[in-house]
Amino acid sequence: MVQIIVCSDLVLDHSALESYDRVFDLLEEHHRWFRESLPLIASENVSSPAVREAVASDLGHRYAEGWVGERVYAGNVYVDQIEQLCIDLMKSLFDAEFVDVRPISGVTANLAVYTAFSDPGDTLMCLSIPTGGHISMAKKRLGGTAGAVHGLKVEYFPFDEEEMNIDVDEAKKKISQLSKDGKAPKIGMFGASVFLRPHPVKELAETIKSVGGTVVYDAAHVAGLIAGGVFGDPLRDGADAVTLSTHKTLFGPQRGAILSWEKHAEQIKRGVFPGVTSNHHLHTLAGLAVAATEMLAFGEQYVTHVVRNAKALASGLHDEGVDVLGEAFGFTESHTVIADVTKYGLGGDLEKKLEQANIILNRNLLPYDLRHDRHFTNPGGIRLGSLEVTRLGMKEDDMKEIARLIGRVIVKGENPAKVREDVKEFRSDFQKIHYCFDTAKLAHEFLRFE
Ligand SMILES: *Cc1c(COP(=O)(O)O)cnc(C)c1O
Repeated sequence: MVQIIVCSDLVLDHSALESYDRVFDLLEEHHRWFRESLPLIASENVSSPAVREAVASDLGHRYAEGWVGERVYAGNVYVDQIEQLCIDLMKSLFDAEFVDVRPISGVTANLAVYTAFSDPGDTLMCLSIPTGGHISMAKKRLGGTAGAVHGLKVEYFPFDEEEMNIDVDEAKKKISQLSKDGKAPKIGMFGASVFLRPHPVKELAETIKSVGGTVVYDAAHVAGLIAGGVFGDPLRDGADAVTLSTHKTLFGPQRGAILSWEKHAEQIKRGVFPGVTSNHHLHTLAGLAVAATEMLAFGEQYVTHVVRNAKALASGLHDEGVDVLGEAFGFTESHTVIADVTKYGLGGDLEKKLEQANIILNRNLLPYDLRHDRHFTNPGGIRLGSLEVTRLGMKEDDMKEIARLIGRVIVKGENPAKVREDVKEFRSDFQKIHYCFDTAKLAHEFLRFE
């Protein structure tokens, strides 16, 4: 293998060709590692070879600013048909009147919606980061998109830590107080990055609308669960718009989308372009169209298994002695599991140990961490997701085995290198990708052009 020696900012002793080889060597290494690992990051999934083929197409070289049929560029004869197909597929997947598939990520979708429905200085109401909120909803002080980029003032929904959900009565009181103070929320934003149970959209939508607010639901994490009918129906419950990422519970490449109603279409379209995109990454748009067909065919069955697996993983960890949050309601109703690991160490330290054992998950703030002076760099929690392991064909018994492997590292304190050998062995039986149309390629195979 080519060794590149980096000495201060001088790169010595390599030619462009060696660096070229090095990039591919690193890609091969990454793929090999993931083939031998347990990918449990709750915001990640693996897309099918068909989706990856679309992503590698010529569309990644093209521009198509504007709406289908009204482009600012030539050369979009087929792009227009693919984008229209993608819109139609997403409409039927979510039973949505209007869909904009141009946002290039979940954050971009949120920013487009802020642009469509609010002005700088307005109030956004959402969850705080320790209670599950995402940085794209956060205050300027934290560098969050809502505050730092769109100038929104951020107010938090009151949160019930036992129920791990928004406290409806307290939220109603807070909204009416904010309204009296002349700070009524212009946007009430549901959705989260630690999202165990459906949020009370139906219960709060009228209150938000009665003070002049727009109801938005950030489904970045749970879009696939909603499409598969296992996590509520925010559009029918009163949401004006739903933003999403396409690569968490959905099967797509990394991208975003906005679902809404015809009456909001023009506002949202302008928010997306010229608001927050120019080029909208047409190769991943094509990938999303393919992913949407897979979701329509296999989504319901997939997300049903995802939720079952998350529950099995949570109860398996609980059996190992790990403090999984939400025991009172069966730990989770989604793909996500969150555990307090402070009995054994801190989330950041344990994340690294687990990574050495080829168990890939992430540290996470717990709702009460800040009160205990714990911060994001080394919080008290870990977050796990069942998305990718489910797509690899694993079932509930396999979740119990994963819980035991995790328990060996964090509860029993076994050497991660030793556990890694057993992780590799266990994973060797799960190389195929499931819930997609037939393919001869493997889930984490590095696809080469010969
Ligand atoms: C992941 C996430 C996003 C951002 O999605 P990207 O596609 O990574 O930009 C937005 N909101 C929530 C709640 C998320 O969890």
